[in-house]
Amino acid sequence: MNSWKKPTKLKIILLGDSGVGKTSLVKRYHDKDFKELHLSTVGIDLLDKELCIENKLVSLQIWDTAGQERFKGMPSAFYRDTHCCVLVYDVNVLQTFESLDNWHAEFIKMANPITPDKFPFVLMGNKTDVKDGKSRVVEKEKAVEWCNSKGEIVYFETSAKEKINVDEAFLEIARKALSNERRNNEIYTSNIEIVEEQPKRCAC
Ligand code: GDP
Ligand code: MG
Repeated sequence: MNSWKKPTKLKIILLGDSGVGKTSLVKRYHDKDFKELHLSTVGIDLLDKELCIENKLVSLQIWDTAGQERFKGMPSAFYRDTHCCVLVYDVNVLQTFESLDNWHAEFIKMANPITPDKFPFVLMGNKTDVKDGKSRVVEKEKAVEWCNSKGEIVYFETSAKEKINVDEAFLEIARKALSNERRNNEIYTSNIEIVEEQPKRCAC
């Protein structure tokens, strides 16, 4: 994949209760292009993937915790400069859905985005494959209602185990992150009164 310019870095973080499948979702999205930049030394796994969206080469940097969410102990650097925040719950465990309000609020408090009301979140309801009698407790309508109550959060029903909707969700996450990066740039450039022309295409 070639580009006229260096790829635009987009930071994505995953939040949600321990055990909902965050790491499994990232691993499912993982492919041979994926570079592992960092593993668990500071309790954060950082993965990087280049892709071309909307004629632009981007480097998607996906930050996953290495288990500290059990103690809500992520350092502030984990939240800083995020372009899109992915919230994950397990459709079979009510408590993980009920925790979403806290994770949402925690993100806004810690990341302190320029425009909190417009900040892009994506919600994943994971483990939709489980059909062993331990039936699902959070229906899709309930999750969509929660998303609408917070603004415009996009919702995906996923299974990391069966790779359902995983690529689709990450593509939307990348799109949301890119439009957020563009909006931040506009705010920044309008503040300093310089309008820089955006690169129009990448050759991939
Ligand atoms: P995390 O703590 O949120 O990172 O969760 P993990 O990715 O470590 O997953 C916790 C457990 O759930 C592991 O045993 C996974 O194999 C399992 N798991 C993750 N995603 C799915 C899924 O989509 N379906 C099923 N059935 N199990 C899953
Ligand atoms: Mg994990």
